Amino acid sequence: MASDSQDIHLSIGGMRCAGCVDAVETALRNVPGVTEAVVNFADHSARVKGQFNTEVLLGSLADAGYESALQAQVEDPESIEKEERLLYRRYLQKSALAGALGIPLMITEHLGWLPMLGTLQGTHFWTVISALTLVILYLSGRGYYLGAIQSLYQRQANMDTLIALGTGSAWIYSTIAIDYANLLPGHVQHAYFESSVVILAFINLGSALEINARGRTSAAIRALMGLQPRQAIVIRDGIERTIPIAEVGLDDIIRVRPGEKIPVDGVVVEGTSTVDESMLTGEPMPVVKSPGERVVSGTLNQQGALLFKATHIGQQTVLAQIIACVRNAQGTKPDIGRLVDRIAAIFVPVVVGIAMLTFMTWWLFGPEPSLGYAFVTAMTVLVIACPCALGLATPISIMVGVGKAAQQGILIRKGDALQTAGLLTCMVVDKTGTLTEGRPSIVAVETAQGAAEDEVIRLAASLEAASEHPLAHAVVKLAAERNIRLAAASDFSARPGYGVMAAVEGQRIIIGNSAMMQSENVDMAIWAQRLADCASQARTPLLVARGGVMLGMLQAEDPIKQDSAAAIAALNAQGIRVIMLTGDHEATARAVAARVGISEFRAHVLPQDKAAVVAELQAQGEKVGMVGDGINDAPALAQANVGFAIGTGTDIAIESADIVIMSGSLTKLAESVRVSRLTLRNIEHNLVGASLYNIISIPVAAGLLYPFYGLLLNPMIAGAAMAMSSLTVVANANRLRWQ
Ligand code: ADP
Ligand code: MG
Repeated sequence: MASDSQDIHLSIGGMRCAGCVDAVETALRNVPGVTEAVVNFADHSARVKGQFNTEVLLGSLADAGYESALQAQVEDPESIEKEERLLYRRYLQKSALAGALGIPLMITEHLGWLPMLGTLQGTHFWTVISALTLVILYLSGRGYYLGAIQSLYQRQANMDTLIALGTGSAWIYSTIAIDYANLLPGHVQHAYFESSVVILAFINLGSALEINARGRTSAAIRALMGLQPRQAIVIRDGIERTIPIAEVGLDDIIRVRPGEKIPVDGVVVEGTSTVDESMLTGEPMPVVKSPGERVVSGTLNQQGALLFKATHIGQQTVLAQIIACVRNAQGTKPDIGRLVDRIAAIFVPVVVGIAMLTFMTWWLFGPEPSLGYAFVTAMTVLVIACPCALGLATPISIMVGVGKAAQQGILIRKGDALQTAGLLTCMVVDKTGTLTEGRPSIVAVETAQGAAEDEVIRLAASLEAASEHPLAHAVVKLAAERNIRLAAASDFSARPGYGVMAAVEGQRIIIGNSAMMQSENVDMAIWAQRLADCASQARTPLLVARGGVMLGMLQAEDPIKQDSAAAIAALNAQGIRVIMLTGDHEATARAVAARVGISEFRAHVLPQDKAAVVAELQAQGEKVGMVGDGINDAPALAQANVGFAIGTGTDIAIESADIVIMSGSLTKLAESVRVSRLTLRNIEHNLVGASLYNIISIPVAAGLLYPFYGLLLNPMIAGAAMAMSSLTVVANANRLRWQ
């Protein structure tokens, strides 16, 4: 049964190598209705979008040989951990088992303690070893053999194919050598049983260690999931009950005692307390919460008791959305990642081809015993050449990078943004609410001759009561403080970026900036000096006119955020050009810019023109980041290469942003750029390292150095090298966290 457009996450089991990524994506895309399928090899998951039947989807994966399950948005971190530990232990056991046979065999062989092939004693001994090896191959390597057969059915080849071919052929060759030793030339009368089991020991060990290391990389998600309390105290019909979080309903009244976590999102109805929101915003200062204020699931109530009404539960809470967001971002694949997946998909067949070529070359042209050499070199090529490291290189770094950002309250909503943020050359910053607190207050009132201060305030506030602008709130608040009664206003109209006007007591009142007054033909000649003085103190002049004549001026001051200057300095230090945009007066803009250390600004920018300014900069060849908080910033945020929304801003701004700074702190801008640059560099290191590994290891394994230096790789060393290569990539990505 097809349903509405879906967007789901799957956990995928049985994906052992980067070569599988393409196979899984193809299996998913072949399902009718799937429009997008992206596999994340780092955490073995996939994101699928479209209108499809989930049963069919899971069936298609099963046919391709992969187990899968739908992922819940908020999982239980403990059960994931348990599952991971189990898998880890199982790989370790398999490794130990293979090692228990392989290592003693290897040592005694080297010491020359073992009977020769071709002798009676030797035939008996090696027949027993052959049987033992077969048991170990079954116990420790079954998964790889099944996988190889499975992918053969799909006419594909993956890491399993390589391992199965390498270790399986070692066993077959050696077993044949026992019975037909006399048919083989003298030196080739050698068994490779220990190679096949030691290779399995290394590969299983590698998988175990990788699971261990990878587990820690999604620590960011797990930490977020761990924030969610399991229970809540609800008050229903006057009775307090402790219930599981899943049973909390909308509009339930919930009690939070001191020291407890907030279970779901809501609005405080009773009590006052401070709440530590640092886990979500990265902002260390606790926030005071009193009735009417929003509380968010997962944050920590401190010393007071609160009663609040649940407004968002389940998937709708901010916490659930952050988790979904981080997961999406971690799962997105930059272009380079897609290219690598495509390479990995053709890599394995190519390697099998190289192995065959190696075999033929040694057999035909190699020194005696040529068959023995041919066999060993081909096996070494098969074992060493897995492209696992290549496949892990990109997703593992992205995962760590996104997680690192999340832990600092930088929410990357679109994975590509992590890549683009590091390439920004220019940052456009909105003044109000971004550089400043966005909570202006009126600090001075000037009047025209004959006008009373309270009268100017009364008329202004009567108009502004109908406006949503932060400046309007400041005016209304001032009137309230002075106990001024407001008059009724009619014919109200607002002109965004200019001001408002309406009729009060039969007269037309205008309040706004100088451009507003000019367009309404209000004569301001004698106000020019006072206007300039006000603006040069970084204050915003609000001009008030009645019946076309200036009545007075209110001076609004919006405090500059404490860390704005430091944030700008950090961006400048990164070589990023910073430009401030504002609808405010030119002189006010200049004063604010000077205080925070910005040398470039544009004043009198109308809200609808902000996106055009961004586009103009892009046309100059800049990669533009835009920071804003308001509704009118949304188009500019969308236009920018990377849109940053300030977490304290409106939902619309956050919706159109690529990156959300959960705390209001602008210093996180430079930090985003820094994390992005580090991640990009990390991906580069990983890709270069992984490609070099394959470029060097395959020819060496094929024996290219033998004619010159007599150098041949031992197949067991190849197994160890293969395991090490993935581990190195994972370790390098983890290094990001401490940078
Ligand atoms: P910004 O977001 O940069 O503050 P706006 O476009 O919101 O810019 O506003 C630009 C200017 O227009 C303000 O600085 C103010 O002078 C004037 N203005 C806008 N709305 C109002 C209002 N409701 N009351 C008074 N002045 C206003
Ligand atoms: Mg604004």
